[in-house]
Amino acid sequence: MKQSKSVDYQAIIDEVYAEVKSLDLQGKVADYIPELAKVSSEKYGICLVDNQGNTFTAGDAEEPFSIQSISKVFTLTMVFHAFKSKLWHRVNVEPSGNPFNSIAQLEYENGIPRNPFMNAGALVITDALISKFENAKEKIATFISDIAGCTNIQINGEVLMSEMDHASRNRAVAYFLKAHQNIENENIENLIQTYIYHCSMEMNCVDLARSFSFFADQGYSRYCDRQILTPSQTKRLNALMLTCGFYDESGEFAFRVGLPGKSGVGGGIAAVLPGKFSIAVWSPELNTKGNSLRGIKTLELITDKISFSLF
Ligand code: GLU
Repeated sequence: MKQSKSVDYQAIIDEVYAEVKSLDLQGKVADYIPELAKVSSEKYGICLVDNQGNTFTAGDAEEPFSIQSISKVFTLTMVFHAFKSKLWHRVNVEPSGNPFNSIAQLEYENGIPRNPFMNAGALVITDALISKFENAKEKIATFISDIAGCTNIQINGEVLMSEMDHASRNRAVAYFLKAHQNIENENIENLIQTYIYHCSMEMNCVDLARSFSFFADQGYSRYCDRQILTPSQTKRLNALMLTCGFYDESGEFAFRVGLPGKSGVGGGIAAVLPGKFSIAVWSPELNTKGNSLRGIKTLELITDKISFSLF
C-alpha cells in the first residue's frame, strides 16, 4: 500500500480495526429480509481511498456485501444530474425523525417524502429513473460499475428474491405515493422490482469507497475520469447525506462522526471527508436504528484520530 504524505491512513485504519474488534458491541443482523440474516456477524472490513488515489484496507475489505440503502445515493446522483431542480417538488430535503420505511408521515404531508433516502423518497427517485431511461436497471448497474472503477458490479439474486417476497410495506408505500400522483409510471410492480434491484447490488468496501470518491473531490471521479456532478451539486448531496443519511440517527451520527455518508441495512456505511478521502466500512450487526454498530464506532475513532472536525 502507498502511504499518503501527511497522514498515515494505513496505520490509523489498522489501529482502529484492532480496537473496534476488541470491543464487545452487541447488535443484530437485519432479518426482515431473510437472506440478509445468513451473513456472518463476524465480518468486518474497512477501505479508505484518499484524493490522490491511494487505497488503504483492513479486514474483509474485498468481500462483497449487500449495499441496500447505500444504492439510494447512486440513484439520487443519477436523477440529480438529469432533472436538476424540478425533482425537489416531488421529494423534500429534510430529516424525517421517522423510521426509513415509515408510511405515516406521507399521509399528513400529502405524499411528498421527507427526503430521498427514506424508502418513500427513494421510490420516487427510482420512478423518475424509469421515466427517463428505457432500461433503468441496466443504466443503474452501469453507472455504479463505472464510478467504482469499471468493475462489474452484480446483484445478489437470492437477496433480490428474498426482498421481493417480503416487500409488502414497500408496495404499500408505492401505492400510497401513486394515490398522491407522486409516481408517474403505471406499473408499480416494475417500480418495486427496479428499486429492489438496486438495493440488491453487491459491492465490497474497496468498490464502495472508490464509488464515493467523487463526493470527496468536488464531483470528479478519478476512477472513471469523469465529472459526475458539479461542485455545487456535490455540496448539496453531501449536505443531504449529513442531515438524512443515517435513518433517524442522523443527528447522533453528525455528533459522533460529522461526515456526510449513507448506511444500509446490510451493515455497510460509505462516508466522505470532502477534500481528503472517501471511506467504506462493513460490519453486519446493526443497532436499533438500523446502522452498523462497528461501522459507526470505526468512523468515530478514525475522525478522532485524524483530529477532524467540520465544526
Ligand atoms: N431495500 C431495503 C428496504 O427497502 C433498504 C433498507 C435500507 O438499507 O435502509 O427495506
